[in-house]
Amino acid sequence: MSGQRRALVIGGSIGGLFAANWLRAIGWNVTVFERVTDDLASRGAGIGTHDELRAVIRRLGLTVDETIGVWVHTRICLDRNGRISHQLATSQLQSSWARVYRLLKDAFPAADYRFGMALERIEQDAGGVTAIFADGSRERADLLVGADGVRSTVRELLLPEAQPRYAGYVAWRGLVDEATFSSAADKELFKRYTMCFPEGEMMLCYPVPGRDNDTRPGHRGYNHIWYRPTDGRETLPLLCTDASGHCHGISIPPPLIRPEVTARIKAEARELLAPQIAAVVERTDQLFFQAIFDLETPRMALGRVALLGDAAFVARPHVGAGVTKAALDAEGLAREIKAADGDLDAALARYDRERRLFGSRIVARARRLGAYIEAQLKPPAERTEAERQPPPEYLMREIGTVTLDINALTAPETEG
Ligand SMILES: Cc1cc2nc3c(=O)[nH]c(=O)nc-3n(C[C@H](O)[C@H](O)[C@H](O)COP(=O)(O)OP(=O)(O)OC[C@H]3O[C@@H](n4cnc5c(N)ncnc54)[C@H](O)[C@@H]3O)c2cc1C
Repeated sequence: MSGQRRALVIGGSIGGLFAANWLRAIGWNVTVFERVTDDLASRGAGIGTHDELRAVIRRLGLTVDETIGVWVHTRICLDRNGRISHQLATSQLQSSWARVYRLLKDAFPAADYRFGMALERIEQDAGGVTAIFADGSRERADLLVGADGVRSTVRELLLPEAQPRYAGYVAWRGLVDEATFSSAADKELFKRYTMCFPEGEMMLCYPVPGRDNDTRPGHRGYNHIWYRPTDGRETLPLLCTDASGHCHGISIPPPLIRPEVTARIKAEARELLAPQIAAVVERTDQLFFQAIFDLETPRMALGRVALLGDAAFVARPHVGAGVTKAALDAEGLAREIKAADGDLDAALARYDRERRLFGSRIVARARRLGAYIEAQLKPPAERTEAERQPPPEYLMREIGTVTLDINALTAPETEG
């Protein structure tokens, strides 16, 4: 047997695939274990990207061309009457979860990616780590990477005290085909990133790759995300209750959302949002929602286990950086391992220190951007200065555009 080292990556979504591709690039033998039983590419919706994401993909040796997403160069804020109240020149590339997943999945050997493998337990000793799966099979390696998302089994086994905290609001989301945008005014929406700020809420809309990741005009998609305060004790469980009365917990498969719930969201869109945006919500076939969480983990490496992506830190989506953070975690892990020249313990200690600092700073940054939405559940008199709704100019400048430079992430922010 050669001296090649082996890694087990738990979770085959974007974070897991970045880790798998990066560890393979530094010469490791890598196997990915994904709980679900078939391709994940039908998942997800639009995502904002950062220059850093494209740079990590390029450093991995993969091609990033124009087909990765749709550029917009202007942001606008629409008032309740549909008029532009604010405008800002800023460029951003919007992609989709499926597009990034496909790129990473196709770059990794299919034979080393195993669907239908749910991790249940982990055993560690001085020589390495053993993963035990739901089917009873065992796999041994030098390193195990927990890239299994916000509800991570790996984290739960090793750091049960680190639990996601509900932020007090949900994101209602949808994706609409460009073909349904017929009027000239409708078509204008594809040229810009559009925002609406009803009191205590936040609506973001932008063009993304369409079906089959098509970025050609006429074939794109229009992504919308509406952040709305939602009490976690009563309202959220009600939203997650299907027509038979069964409550699915804190999320629900989109087709099971009760028709009266989506009808009410559409009616409230007509009441609160610019008419052209309410019309997009109206013709969305499948509205769905995700509860928003903060998660911070006290350790990103324990023994021969490293946590990465949403399994370690979840920043509210206002920084639009979950995918980029997972990519930077994966690259950081591979870089430290390579630099440590065989000393895996030293590499993991450095990975833990560096990426944990980044994770906690970006979580704090995202929490500040969403503080005013969370505060809606409190009486106005109890809201602090930091929980006041910032002016649209500030939100338009900050949302999804924060630099991912670790020092700049802590720089004092100025409003206005
Ligand atoms: C409303 C909203 C908007 C967002 N917008 C953006 C955006 O604009 N830009 C951006 O970059 N990010 C955005 N994000 C965040 C982004 O989607 C996530 O950060 C990213 O997908 C995290 O990837 P991950 O691989 O770490 O975790 P996940 O994608 O959650 O993957 C975890 C994987 O692990 C698997 N798994 C779980 N348990 C086990 C187990 N026991 N055994 C084996 N496999 C297991 C799961 O099936 C899953 O495939 C947004 C998130 C939300 C909620």
